[in-house]
Amino acid sequence: MKKHNFSAGPSILPDTVMQQAAEAILNFNNSNLSIIEISHRSSDFMQVITKAKELVLELAELNSDEYEVLFQHGGASTQFIMTAYNLLPIDGKAGFIDTGTWSSKAIKETKIFGNVETIASSKDQGYKYIPKDFSVPNDLAYLHVTSNNTIYGTQYKDFPVTDLPLVADMSSDIFSKKLDFSKFDVIYAGAQKNIGASGTTLVIIKKSLLGKTGRTIPSMMNYEVQIDKGSMFNTPSVFSIYVSMLYLQWLKDKGGLEAIEKLNEAKAKILYDEIDRNPNFVGYANKEDRSLMNVTFNLTDESKKERFDQLAAEAGVHAIKGHRSVGGYRASIYNAMPIESVQVLVDVMKAL
Ligand code: PMP
Repeated sequence: MKKHNFSAGPSILPDTVMQQAAEAILNFNNSNLSIIEISHRSSDFMQVITKAKELVLELAELNSDEYEVLFQHGGASTQFIMTAYNLLPIDGKAGFIDTGTWSSKAIKETKIFGNVETIASSKDQGYKYIPKDFSVPNDLAYLHVTSNNTIYGTQYKDFPVTDLPLVADMSSDIFSKKLDFSKFDVIYAGAQKNIGASGTTLVIIKKSLLGKTGRTIPSMMNYEVQIDKGSMFNTPSVFSIYVSMLYLQWLKDKGGLEAIEKLNEAKAKILYDEIDRNPNFVGYANKEDRSLMNVTFNLTDESKKERFDQLAAEAGVHAIKGHRSVGGYRASIYNAMPIESVQVLVDVMKAL
């Protein structure tokens, strides 16, 4: 039976990407070698990583003179540390907007390096909203935001306006819609939701920001070293980078970010419309801050849980259980999720 994979991450990949990746495991570029057994310094792989970086800059409409693209190890969680190491001067202060678990984790890690000011937080209401009415002090080294809150299902529609360097964890909505990426100084995102498989993390950095902290930075944590070595200070995640290259190409072929945004909006709309129409369900996040990527909702009558779970399982709907810290349900409808699968979930909701 076909599974409709609503997993929050690692998540669904486009069918064609899966097919190409599977073929490359057995025979990459007709070389009679596998993508997972060739050298990362081979010309075949150099072409892959170069293409992946080019596609990132093209989709983001960023200039390679100003911005550098890295594919790093250690997930977005390692970027919590790397951003602090590379951007926070020894006596400096970093500003954060706390919109959930992942922002909190970034704050916790950054505190190891120095001062942190939490400028606004939505913790008071279970992270159901994105804080809006705050002013950003100008004595900060940078401002960090989490663009989409995977667990609670909230997403920025407008980012804070500031002259400070802006750092964004875009792990769960990278390249899901058109954005002015040039507003950001550092963007990072684990690949495993919107642009690939787990095992690599995309980092986009404005180069002029680096080398100013006065810290001695271990090589693996040092953006300048990583840039100098082309993301190959050590052996990179060859296969994951290959899958990301395929996924980024798929995004481009689909019509780029404008086209994927329309599709993502359409998918989210049919699901939120059903949540709002159907008395069996209530949305978790405040309406104005709802995420196009992670749709969080609860049953209005918990006694219907067994029946709903059974109907979902029978329809092949996979992984809609909410995060353990929130409960209820969460349907993750990232770039690769077809609208037909969202419709299957909507039909299950209607059948309850
Ligand atoms: N930030 C956000 C917004 C996330 O959703 C996640 C993972 N779900 C992370 C950071 C952590 O990512 P990783 O597991 O790649 O370290």
